[in-house]
Amino acid sequence: MLHRLLPILLAAAPVLAAETPMHEPANLPDAVRTILHALQPLKNDRGSRELVYQYSVGNLSGLSDADAEWTIRELAARGIGVITFWQHGANQDAGVAEAIRIGRIQQRLGLTVAADASGVLYRFYDDTPATAHVDDEGNPFWDTSFAGSKMGCPFTLDRRAPVILARVAAYAEAYRAAGVNLGIVTADWEVDGPHEWNDAWANSKRCVRCRENLPNIDDFTAFQARMRQLRAALLRECYAEPILGRHPSCLVTNYAVYPNDGWRYWYDYFEHPQPELPHAQDQHDLHRPWYNDFWETRFTLAMPVVYTWYSIYAAYPGFSNPDYRWFYNMLLVGTNAGKSTPSGIPIATFVHWHTTAPPQGAPEVPQMSGQAYTELLWHLLLRGHDIFYSWTPTDELAEEIALVQKVYEESLAYSDWLRHGTPVSFDVPREQGPVISGVRLGDRVLVRRTDFGDTRGPVTISVDGREFSVPRAPGALQVLRMN
Ligand SMILES: [Zn+2]
Repeated sequence: MLHRLLPILLAAAPVLAAETPMHEPANLPDAVRTILHALQPLKNDRGSRELVYQYSVGNLSGLSDADAEWTIRELAARGIGVITFWQHGANQDAGVAEAIRIGRIQQRLGLTVAADASGVLYRFYDDTPATAHVDDEGNPFWDTSFAGSKMGCPFTLDRRAPVILARVAAYAEAYRAAGVNLGIVTADWEVDGPHEWNDAWANSKRCVRCRENLPNIDDFTAFQARMRQLRAALLRECYAEPILGRHPSCLVTNYAVYPNDGWRYWYDYFEHPQPELPHAQDQHDLHRPWYNDFWETRFTLAMPVVYTWYSIYAAYPGFSNPDYRWFYNMLLVGTNAGKSTPSGIPIATFVHWHTTAPPQGAPEVPQMSGQAYTELLWHLLLRGHDIFYSWTPTDELAEEIALVQKVYEESLAYSDWLRHGTPVSFDVPREQGPVISGVRLGDRVLVRRTDFGDTRGPVTISVDGREFSVPRAPGALQVLRMN
């Protein structure tokens, strides 16, 4: 069979080569080259669906105007958007000019002008003693329990806020003055500003200034609420408002900030389980109570993080299907955002497939299968998620982006369903078996059923008191009529 196919494959090779872009710039960034070669142009019409954003596509500042436009166009043909990364300090003027240059091209091509503000949001804690905690002897001290960063005192940031705000405002104003409409601004602002986990609570109790500002400092729930309120206020005043004041329809958000059901079901790379703090146990996982900070940020876009964090696999020994260990937790995380976010707020989700942030020297765990990952992406779309932001190290890029594009491409045929349909299920089965998600339009439901067990027969789902039956159909979407 292989021999019979070989001539066909060889014959196909020149065709593929001919489809390789003729004018590929010699100085194309490596990540862009990888994506262009890993993906074919979309066959389905994208309509007004947003592109997929890939965080490894960095700035295109090394490219001429013509080459930058070629690159943006070729990526968009494959469903991939370009993000301009804002910079500050010595690079700010050049950064603003570059942001406007790329924004103009995107606007001219009818694409969303997308930017990332991480570079201008860091750092509120500026490493000077003025932003440090202070102990009983009057000595400044830092909290280094967040991946070694120098985290300071949350009650010192009033003087830093105008500095950060000015950087954001400079960009937002430059776009406005140039007549370029900012469409989406995201950020990956994490280890900085007020936090409640790791040693944050213990260090605040040691700090004279924190104790003065926190009369209920011994109450963790009150401490968490205050830290999240302070954090949300910084994001609102220094980031969201300076942008929305100049670009009212812009989608603004930050990594890991999204409406929630009062719980967080995952740990970031700089966090670890703390059994001494409030939690709810689920197999070996400890879920944490979470303050609903999204609404105080004034963000117009929700940004959950659905990653294959290394610790997930070991946390769910109760599932004999290795894929369901990953899938269960990731669906829990995605469902939390989906069910908690009202329809007027789109959801842009950071996704990642290869096992994420394994500790050095830790034993390998079975990788989530690509099939389970693409199924998960489908269930996210059918539970209210709108846009994918793919994050991945560059050595994983080609495989990762191909999986995301596969689901995205297929989903373009169902854009009306996804845009106007109402999710029918937010159930996350605590036993491995069938998982069902869908969206309803009138009497019809677009459904995906993914099976992690041996259930062969149909599963009955109830929506608004009306029942419908979902047959097993591996890897397929089904359009069913409600009784
Ligand atoms: Zn303090």
